Amino acid sequence: MPDTCVHTDAASTAGTGRFGAVLDRIENETAALDERGSPAGYIPLLAGADPRRFGMAVAEPDGTVYGVGDWQQPFSTQSITKVFALALVLSLDGERIWQGVGREPSGNPFNSLVQLEYENGVPRNPFINAGALVVTDRLQTLTGDAAGRIRELLRTESGNPAIDFTPAIAASEAAHGDRNAALAHFMASYGNIANPVPDLLAAYFRQCSIEASCADLALAAGFLAQHGLQADGSALLTRSQAKQVNAIMLTCGTYDAAGDFAYRVGLPGKSGVGGGIIAVVPGMCTLCVWSPGLDRRGNSVAGVAALDRFTTLTGLSVF
Ligand code: GLN
Repeated sequence: MPDTCVHTDAASTAGTGRFGAVLDRIENETAALDERGSPAGYIPLLAGADPRRFGMAVAEPDGTVYGVGDWQQPFSTQSITKVFALALVLSLDGERIWQGVGREPSGNPFNSLVQLEYENGVPRNPFINAGALVVTDRLQTLTGDAAGRIRELLRTESGNPAIDFTPAIAASEAAHGDRNAALAHFMASYGNIANPVPDLLAAYFRQCSIEASCADLALAAGFLAQHGLQADGSALLTRSQAKQVNAIMLTCGTYDAAGDFAYRVGLPGKSGVGGGIIAVVPGMCTLCVWSPGLDRRGNSVAGVAALDRFTTLTGLSVF
């Protein structure tokens, strides 16, 4: 039986919430999906995840959250944290970040080195690894604890103080982190990284290792649907900045599949190689899906399919 529930009542209650019936239908359809992709293999601790796991949550502006499947199961957030890092840097430092990173889709894999050389160490956007390293570097300079600030934002906005780093995942990634180290050193050679590269990498791997559930992430992303307003009504971002982050999610949030994601889902979204994807229906709600099997571009196969069904069944999209 589908287990759609609101966060105030953890008991299984099918069809709860405005989109409860839609979520139940998506869960049933997703269960029938044969092709699931494979978990990220390059971070050994993620490689063993079961591609048949699936969860999906919707958070509404009043803080109600409900979902289906494994929607309360913590998973490795990975690149989803790049959105929260960017939001923090924009809130603390405004436009300055755009001196070191662009705002164009890369058309290349998330960990690609190829554009960096002929574009003089300035990454295309904040959501590929190179760009995220520039953002985390700036957040580290501004706060002294980039990963800690991202964890704090996630805890505050989700209301879940248990959200935390997973040191074993950070260590697993660090042990296989040559590609990210290469990106960081290369950008440092152009003067585009301020902190010592080992310190930056440690902060970045800690950030990526944060575990949170679909419920947590749907709630935590609420400010993106609320024009920059946080759960307590204060502004993390201006209305204009919230628009900007959503625009970059739409054009760059799923790497070299961003065009296909916009075509299928029609919402700002951000994926991570842990198999999660957050998506924003501006002014209305935020979504998070999780299923660890990835396509060759690093996006969750069942996650994209579920979001595709959500916007198709509800008619909600930014278009
Ligand atoms: N930690 C991962 C990496 O740097 C994040 C990538 C991702 O989620 N796309 O490779």
